[in-house]
Amino acid sequence: MRGQMMEQPLLISSLIRHAEAYHGDTAIVSRALEGGIHRYTWGEAAVRARQLANALLGLGVGPGDRVGTLAWNGYRHLEAYYAISGVEAVCHTINPRLFAEQIVYIINHAEDRVLMFDLTFLPLIAQIRPQLTTVRHFVLMSDREHLPRPVSNDEVLCYEDLVASHSDSFEWPAFDEDTAAGLCYTSGTTGSPKGVLYSHRSTVLHALASSLPDSLHVSAESCIMPVVPMFHVNGWGLPYSCAMNGAKLVLPGAKMDAVNLFELIESEEVTMAAGVPTIWLMLLQHCEQNHLRIRSLKRVIVGGAAAPESMIEQLAEHGVELRQLWGMTELSPCGTTSTPKFHHRDLDREAMCRLHMRQGRPIYGVDIRIVDDGGLPLPHDGKAFGNLQVRGPWVLAQYFRQEAASPAHTADGWFNTGDVSTIDPDGYMKITDRTKDVIKSGGEWISSIDLENIMVGHPAVAEAAAIGIEHPKWDERPLMVVVLKPGAAAAREELLAFFGGKIAKWWTPDDVVIVNELPHTATGKLQKMRLREMFRDYRWPQA
Ligand code: AMP
Repeated sequence: MRGQMMEQPLLISSLIRHAEAYHGDTAIVSRALEGGIHRYTWGEAAVRARQLANALLGLGVGPGDRVGTLAWNGYRHLEAYYAISGVEAVCHTINPRLFAEQIVYIINHAEDRVLMFDLTFLPLIAQIRPQLTTVRHFVLMSDREHLPRPVSNDEVLCYEDLVASHSDSFEWPAFDEDTAAGLCYTSGTTGSPKGVLYSHRSTVLHALASSLPDSLHVSAESCIMPVVPMFHVNGWGLPYSCAMNGAKLVLPGAKMDAVNLFELIESEEVTMAAGVPTIWLMLLQHCEQNHLRIRSLKRVIVGGAAAPESMIEQLAEHGVELRQLWGMTELSPCGTTSTPKFHHRDLDREAMCRLHMRQGRPIYGVDIRIVDDGGLPLPHDGKAFGNLQVRGPWVLAQYFRQEAASPAHTADGWFNTGDVSTIDPDGYMKITDRTKDVIKSGGEWISSIDLENIMVGHPAVAEAAAIGIEHPKWDERPLMVVVLKPGAAAAREELLAFFGGKIAKWWTPDDVVIVNELPHTATGKLQKMRLREMFRDYRWPQA
């Protein structure tokens, strides 16, 4: 027997319609690339998104066409998110931090028809344009004043002209909720980047589940600043979940440095912000150096890489709760959060800190398990660690335009994350490594993440990476590679002694090497493979 409820497809346009109807006066504040602060409301954003939708149709964009964006966190990018998917096209967010050749590969592979880009990327577009084989229209996301001169419409269209010259009279069309809506390429460290194609249904369900109090806790009572770029997994879905809940939205533009972020948090009374650990390390250092106190912020969501203990403690001193988020491009991206349970309410600060050092428990809709190398499920006892697998309605089923069966999926429908973790009886997952980054010493695994977390707790250390180096007796032993804070000094012995009493003795790295900088991927993650290459010829001091 079928239920007898209304059949309404879950479409992204429903989010902006809701925001306009019930939160029309709620503010969206952006640091504009042209300079200054841009302010308007969800109501005005909805009107301009409809004008842009008409403009896209006028450019010949049709169902399934890919429209690329090379843009920071700003109001025009937000409008593009809604206008593109709203006309049944696919919003393809491109990571501008990738190398030019990778950007060219991605745009050509996605066969983008239209490319919309921020002012910052004019020189990049001029450089790569001859290699872009499918793009018919280039749209500069700015006004006429900022167009390069002389310029014809064949060369570059002006976003503001397009919007102004089209009516806002537009009914968001209804179509199948499984229609593709967004495309994001993973910045994998090996092989060509792979496309993850989100649907309207997966995006709306993800927005719903990631808004929950135990997830990111998005509410009309919040003022939210996504520092995570909108070109990286849809800004963790916040441009959607903020519309769904009518939250005030603060978009920091291209200026993601500590001074500008701190200023925006203060002036806009941001209550929740989300970003990778590097951002919060930077912000905390800025506060420490200038004796500043973070006032309005109640919670930061930290994801993309593990949150170190020292950061959790320092934020707590500012009265800010850290909530860890684990996710992946392939998961839209939210998978788990470190939100405590009722029975954790009496935990002291230290125990609470330990809880938040775990990547957390699954949000509704995501299932997790760990398996051994033979694919057999391992117990959720907080001790056994194995390959982390996930499944759920916003988890990737197949990479974009990859015809063969996905090697990342198991026969029984789970997705292999490439992370290695434990899961405790309460369901909290703790990542110990990436599959390819584990350090195996005498047949036992050492968690490079634990070593790194401890090392960045040393007052002189800005960043740290642990890698396995061949060892004649133990196969591999951990080597710690460290970047010191500007002006700080610390000897090798002092850094090694810092591990004393914090971990099993045999986990202590055999050596520490101080370097000027560590290699990072385009999304700011440590590039372990490159680091291992750099230390290929390293020899242990005693060997
Ligand atoms: P990406 O698809 O670029 O967002 O990368 C996803 C990967 O980032 C995951 O598979 C993890 O290895 C890592 N990652 C994401 N969140 C966390 C976290 N909270 N702690 C540790 N690693 C994380």
